[in-house]
Amino acid sequence: MTQLDELIVYHRGEFRRYPEARIGLMTHALLYGTGCFEGIRAFWDEKSEQLNVFEPLAHYKRLAQSAKILLMDLPAGPEELCAITAELCRRNAFRSDVYIRPVLYKSEETFGVRLDDLEHDFFIVAFPNSKYLETNEGLDACVSSWRRADDNATPPRAKITGSYVNPALAKSEARAHGFDEAIVLTADGHVSETSAANVFIVRDGVVSTPDASQNLLEGITRRVVKNLIERDLGLRVVERTIDRTELYCTDEVFICGTGVGIAWLRSLDRRTIGDGLMGPVTRAVTDGYHALTRGRALRPDVELRAVYEPAYAVDA
Ligand code: PMP
Repeated sequence: MTQLDELIVYHRGEFRRYPEARIGLMTHALLYGTGCFEGIRAFWDEKSEQLNVFEPLAHYKRLAQSAKILLMDLPAGPEELCAITAELCRRNAFRSDVYIRPVLYKSEETFGVRLDDLEHDFFIVAFPNSKYLETNEGLDACVSSWRRADDNATPPRAKITGSYVNPALAKSEARAHGFDEAIVLTADGHVSETSAANVFIVRDGVVSTPDASQNLLEGITRRVVKNLIERDLGLRVVERTIDRTELYCTDEVFICGTGVGIAWLRSLDRRTIGDGLMGPVTRAVTDGYHALTRGRALRPDVELRAVYEPAYAVDA
């Protein structure tokens, strides 16, 4: 029996065992990538024996936006989906960090390229998981030869399952050349993001990040980090276009996202960034993010939702 076999998942409005949640070979989303999803993390706090879901409402609101772009509706409002997510965690009795993957997908078993006039369905899978990159040492990255898909092609603003072939090409190319991660440029050559994280740079005390028109996913961690830098560190964050070579010449580059947390770049295209050590802004952001996600620092603009509290129970 694998670990997956033991999971409880949420599918078609019910909690079931993973092996009982099946989809057919002709499912439209499998044939054409016509689904959208979120990646949410919940953090286990040993001291209070509590599991806290990080920014669940923001994730479900973004899923609703992705759904709109793909002509779908969520089966319930974002609040109710947060409650279902907490219930799913309780049913699995998680006592560790957890990764949560809600997916809304075109479920009709039919062929034909379109988005309209197709049934859709929803599931959530959640499983124990910590960070997927070992980040303490800093990452060696390259600029990918693959360009970011455009908003008018497969909109990166939506987390579309099929769109992830684009960052997957970039990531595998980077790995094949011995790098940890790829920086992906827009078609006109400006910095967009990495395979699954947003980019920040620090140059002469000013923090910058590519603006939302650079064909990136408007990351929830990006928003949290921006607020943290401006409110706690008192530094300005400028959203603007960033050139490739500006990354070479900058003091610090760090990336952020639900999966990776905060990670920093030691080098890019074999050029050392700054002095090749974790910079002071990156360190402060890393510490601040850790405090927020572990419930050590509470802020009104950051949602940390406790799983093991009756207030969030949902009728099953
Ligand atoms: N960009 C891409 C392409 C991603 O897949 C992710 C991860 N969801 C991010 C950025 C970071 O977004 P968030 O902070 O909302 O996880």
